[in-house]
Amino acid sequence: MLRTHTCGELRITDVNKEVILCGWVKKVRKLGGMLFIDLRDRYGVTQLALNFETQSHLFDVADSLGREYVIKVKGLVAERSNKNANMPTGDIEIIVSDIEILNTSKVPPFTIEDDTDGGDELRMKYRYLDIRRDCVKNNLILRHKVVHEVRNYLSDRNFLEVETPFLIKSTPEGARDFVVPSRMNQGQFYALPQSPQQFKQLLMVAGIDRYFQIVKCFRDEDLRADRQPEFTQIDCEMSFVEQNDVLEMFEGMMKHVFKVVRGIEFDYDFPRMTWADAMKYYGSDKPDIRFGMKFVELTDIVKTSTFSVFNEAKAVIAIAAPGCAEYTRKELDGLTEFVKRPQTGAKGLVYVKCNADGTFKSSVDKFYSQEDLATWAKTVGANPGDLILVLSGDDIMKVRKQMNDLRLEMGNRLGLRPHDTYAPLWVVDFPLFEWSEEEQRYMSMHHPFTCPKIEDLDRLETDPGSVNAYAYDMVMNGVELGGGSIRIHDRELQNRMFRALGLDDATAQRKFGCLLGAFEYGAPPHAGLAFGLDRVCAMIVGQDSIRDFIAFPKNNSGRDLMDGSPTEISQEQLDELCLQVVRK
Ligand code: ASP
Repeated sequence: MLRTHTCGELRITDVNKEVILCGWVKKVRKLGGMLFIDLRDRYGVTQLALNFETQSHLFDVADSLGREYVIKVKGLVAERSNKNANMPTGDIEIIVSDIEILNTSKVPPFTIEDDTDGGDELRMKYRYLDIRRDCVKNNLILRHKVVHEVRNYLSDRNFLEVETPFLIKSTPEGARDFVVPSRMNQGQFYALPQSPQQFKQLLMVAGIDRYFQIVKCFRDEDLRADRQPEFTQIDCEMSFVEQNDVLEMFEGMMKHVFKVVRGIEFDYDFPRMTWADAMKYYGSDKPDIRFGMKFVELTDIVKTSTFSVFNEAKAVIAIAAPGCAEYTRKELDGLTEFVKRPQTGAKGLVYVKCNADGTFKSSVDKFYSQEDLATWAKTVGANPGDLILVLSGDDIMKVRKQMNDLRLEMGNRLGLRPHDTYAPLWVVDFPLFEWSEEEQRYMSMHHPFTCPKIEDLDRLETDPGSVNAYAYDMVMNGVELGGGSIRIHDRELQNRMFRALGLDDATAQRKFGCLLGAFEYGAPPHAGLAFGLDRVCAMIVGQDSIRDFIAFPKNNSGRDLMDGSPTEISQEQLDELCLQVVRK
């Protein structure tokens, strides 16, 4: 070992010890007759001190040190005269007796401090320097702890971690597959798994009744800030269970992780909300329930005047923003602009100020009497001082989505979405299908192996849109952390499902023949779910971006700015794979 201690571990109790430390030069300062070096490694920073008079032989070396040089120093631990309470090692310093330069460094392209001068692109290009910064490094440490605790929790409960292949058959359903050409089988391709879904179900058929895997998944989707083409799932499956068993097991896992990793205890059962209620009251299948402002439908009570917008609307939805009756013209215009943004897409916004004196002032005063507005306020549950915001339209789902945007925006403006408050819940009873306008057919809301609710089974062929599923998501602070379902384990039901999805028997056989075949050899009832590890980590520390929890992430165009991928490959490689690149 080159060193006796790390840069984060020496304390006042170590005074007078002879030590050897290795690390990177964070900072060099000359002060009077002294030279101070902050030496950094993964564990912390320790101050090194050199005295011009007594250690003059070290001066040439010390003088040549630049930022991020790698050095090894020998010295004596001494009590510091000017202690630094902000540093765990701040009570001591090392009186250096020897310095060896292990490696030099170019001047780094940005400062290696939490508050760095490097922009995103630069930091990603030099991610290996970025990771030297505490804030990035700490995220990786946190991620390690989360994974460690997940493994502990699940191993203690008889879950077996089993690896499944990365080179699999392409069966795109939902997202696009990344494909890999096979050299040995010309013209044929593997796909990278979007998730190990079929393999974990096969493991249940194989009798591995509790499976998990911390596993990379790959989806060739258009990227948003919180999406990566490759991401990690905590993937789980269990046999001989009902929905409640799964929810309890994994609620327990999340509670365990939050407690051990972050010291946060949830001493209550996570509430459960049906998908229908989530949509009705929050306009989202991942409601942020840190705050109220639930939706109230006014559709039937606003048709008392000649206001054609409301008279013709199929849905009129309101929320009451607490204490916002004093909003200025400018603030109200700002909200109108917000809902009219293309991504929200509302045509306009109606407001009602519930004045402190019990009167009302609204943008539709011309059409509605004070009594009308009082009825609205009562229905919405608005108090004097509140601001009622109303959106309307033809398509209730669209209005709900617009109101969801507005509600979250009001939550932000009112400071009701603090990062250190956690509001978990389960959203259950998702619809089995959603209609795709693009493909003009029903698509699985979750995936085609999700079991329909028994009581809805007889409508699978006649009214598929009304069938609900044993499907569930764990949601926290408006973010989906994970989701899963009870699976179909009956071959005939699986066939009906494929037919409902517009897949004829031959196509289903071609795509999913392997799983269907396995279902003929004693498939046990089984269920499972998967969590997005990157997202769970970001949630635990209250951050939005998952990118900061991935050591080497890609940018929004799916590019790794560090190694430059994706890149072209050589003609030789193409020839070997019998591939030709056609440029569009
Ligand atoms: N494989 C599913 C997914 O990736 C999760 C599950 O149903 O277990 O979303």
